[in-house]
Amino acid sequence: MTARMICALLLLAGAARAHADPCRVDIESNDAMQFNTRQIVVPAECAEVEINLKHTGHMPAKVMGHDWVLARDADMSAIINGGLAAGFNRGYLPSNDPRVIAATRIVGGGESVTVRFSTAALQPAAHYVFFCTSPGHATVMRGTFQIGVATRVARNP
Ligand code: ZN
Repeated sequence: MTARMICALLLLAGAARAHADPCRVDIESNDAMQFNTRQIVVPAECAEVEINLKHTGHMPAKVMGHDWVLARDADMSAIINGGLAAGFNRGYLPSNDPRVIAATRIVGGGESVTVRFSTAALQPAAHYVFFCTSPGHATVMRGTFQIGVATRVARNP
C-alpha cells in the first residue's frame, strides 16, 4: 500500500467521522490568514455544538494566531474593536462580553482548540457570523453560521 493510498484512506476515515456527528464541526486555519470554510450549518436538532479549530500552519500565535468567535452579525465590529483594545494576552477578546456567544483561545501553528456551546439561545432566523479577532484578520477570516438548513454553500478553494 502506497503512502498516497494510506493518506486517502485516512481522509475517508476523517470524513466519515465528521459526518457521524453533524453537531461537531472541524474547521482549519492557516499561515495565509484563512479559514477553510465560509459557512457552517448545523442541524436544528443540535442541543450543543462542538467546534474544533486547527491551525495547520507553522507561524507562532503572536504572529499568525487565530481564534474562532461566534456572534450576531450586528455585534461583530464591536467585538473586534473590543478585542483590539484587550490585546493579545487577553486573546483579542473583550472580557465577559455577553455579545460573544462562543469563542476559543488564540492558537498558533500546529495547535488545536475546541469550544462547545449550547444552541438554546440561538434563533433560526437570526444572522450569526464566525470570525477571527486577531488584528485585521476578520476582513478575510469570517463566515456565516446557521442553525438549520443551508441556503447556499460557499467554500474557499
Ligand atoms: Zn486569524
